[in-house]
Amino acid sequence: MDQTGRLSFDDVRGWIRRFAAQIVANKVYLTELDSAIGDADHGINMDRGFQAALPKLEALTGEDPGAACKLVGSTLISTVGGAGGPLYGSLFLQFGIALSGHDTTSLNEWLTGLDLGIAAIQRLGKAEAGDKTMLDTLMPARDALKQALADGKSPREALLGAASAAEAGMIGTIPIVARRGRASYLGERSAGHQDPGATSSCMLVKAAADEWAA
Ligand code: ADP
Ligand code: MG
Repeated sequence: MDQTGRLSFDDVRGWIRRFAAQIVANKVYLTELDSAIGDADHGINMDRGFQAALPKLEALTGEDPGAACKLVGSTLISTVGGAGGPLYGSLFLQFGIALSGHDTTSLNEWLTGLDLGIAAIQRLGKAEAGDKTMLDTLMPARDALKQALADGKSPREALLGAASAAEAGMIGTIPIVARRGRASYLGERSAGHQDPGATSSCMLVKAAADEWAA
């Protein structure tokens, strides 16, 4: 990413690679989080999806950053079961739409992708902010990024702020009683545990900050 927030195909692929590396490295951790309030498969699910997506991503030629995201999205949808796969798949498809067909892809378009992706996750899963899901990471990250860019902060500063907001949102899922997803079956017993999807979503935002704003 340059100082104006412009993103190339390689920048976008670098972000996805970095996120995938985090998922693979944290497969056990994410699965442990899911064993406390779900069915102990979130890390396994996400790892399976990225093991399938990464070779395709490396083989991808061309200059369209959106194509990299679409490829990941469709692979996650077709290879990952459960709730997480289709939700992440839809998020990446929306990044693909937002980052395609522009002469210069930019952090602004990435923000649009995040916005569209959040809307798609809500259409599919019917969750709101505060339901103890991945949205509790993605929404504050989106809001922080939008506000920072509107305030004229530099793209780097804005992205670092989004990563901080994502982390606060992730930690904020700990005391929440879940209202969506498998964790909601536990009722009050879901409180006291960090949501696995909120945790992997924090890795997604942080991967962008580490790749583009470091
Ligand atoms: P599953 O719950 O089907 O086993 P995963 O374990 O892969 O799927 O993913 C669980 C994560 O998916 C949860 O931690 C939560 O963040 C997210 N999630 C589940 N249901 C929803 C929903 N309705 N809306 C948004 N996110 C959801
Ligand atoms: Mg699960």
